[in-house]
Amino acid sequence: MEVKVNNVLVKLINGDITKEKVDVIVNAANAWLKHGGGVAGAILKKGGYSIQKESDEYVQKYGPVNTGDVAVTFAGNLEAKYIIHAVGPIWHGGKNKEEEKLKSAILSALKKACELGVKTIAFPAISSGIYGFPVKRCAEIFKESIEKFTKNNTCLDEIRIVNIDKEDHEIFVEVFSND
Ligand code: ADP
Repeated sequence: MEVKVNNVLVKLINGDITKEKVDVIVNAANAWLKHGGGVAGAILKKGGYSIQKESDEYVQKYGPVNTGDVAVTFAGNLEAKYIIHAVGPIWHGGKNKEEEKLKSAILSALKKACELGVKTIAFPAISSGIYGFPVKRCAEIFKESIEKFTKNNTCLDEIRIVNIDKEDHEIFVEVFSND
């Protein structure tokens, strides 16, 4: 599914994010940039160990990444130029500023992509897997964040949201279809 949000093309895709041909792949990372399972595991498996090595060097130098914030590494063997590691919140029932923190992670990744001078970016549904964030609410926050960001966007041409899970992907399609 494709929609135009302000001046940016948003594509919702059911598939494996590591296969996307984009400038930046966003990772659903943890604070210590230890890439184990889910999206992070898939990125490491295909991108190679250099991504973990660079991540470890980053944490050694700057400390763990705050929830809602991002760190950048190169993308190893992946076709993308960069990985933006975005740390989303763990869902604790919704009273722990989880929504605000997810929004911050998305907006920080978009802003960082512009600083890197790239045109295309692919996101996973940050926090909605191992971190337990409700998928529909996650999709709504992606939509709100992209609407906000694209009001003043002068750098990105295309934002993709890629989910390997068909049902989760369909929830995103439904949310982005509503005005
Ligand atoms: P988090 O720890 O932030 O919840 P996960 O990696 O566990 O992150 O999952 C985030 C979302 O990414 C989930 O909806 C999951 O179904 C999806 N996902 C897992 N692997 C992939 C992949 N290779 N490509 C695209 N989406 C994926």
